[in-house]
Amino acid sequence: MLNLVLFGPPGAGKGTQSEHIIEDYKLVHLSTGNILRAEVEAGTELGKYAKQIMDEGKLVPDEVVIQMISNKIDANPQAQGFIFDGFPRTTPQAQALDELLSNKSTAITCMVSLDVPEDELVSRLVKRGETSGRADDNEGTVRKRFKEYTEKTLPVATYYQAQNKLFSVDGVGSLDEIYGRIKSVLSRYV
Ligand code: AMP
Repeated sequence: MLNLVLFGPPGAGKGTQSEHIIEDYKLVHLSTGNILRAEVEAGTELGKYAKQIMDEGKLVPDEVVIQMISNKIDANPQAQGFIFDGFPRTTPQAQALDELLSNKSTAITCMVSLDVPEDELVSRLVKRGETSGRADDNEGTVRKRFKEYTEKTLPVATYYQAQNKLFSVDGVGSLDEIYGRIKSVLSRYV
């Protein structure tokens, strides 16, 4: 199996690049942000609970997102691999993911981290907010999301670096240029 963690700050292009990767590598795309937004849209209890946290730019508790990911892994027994987008976002989430995959006799293959300077991220996200309809794509919330990222999510890169699985890729350029850089990392494994 090819199990990829696509990592990077909000606005780095994880969702966009995931779309290319899942097509070429036939992976199942698991985005905790997308799953949570679908719950909000459907008006479920989980959605009602998560909406306020998301609108404030904070992280939803670990146990909630870990359970979501566990359910999705179980729901895809035929998967040739997964691309994790926006997950794990804390070290406990990364540890839980290792355990979930190990129970399925598999593991994370590598983490690809998209590096983009903060000024570029803010302008991308504010621009995205004009069309995305996302309540959290505005400058105030974006700053809070960066703070959460720096404090809680960046250590996840160190976690995978310690396993020699971290690859950093320049996330600035055309979509094709960035995708080419990701493919050259993945070519080590497939
Ligand atoms: P995203 O679409 O990945 O930017 O996620 C949007 C929002 O959903 C985040 O700002 C968090 O509030 C929540 N969220 C998504 N993934 C996670 C996660 N792995 N852990 C905690 N909260 C998450």
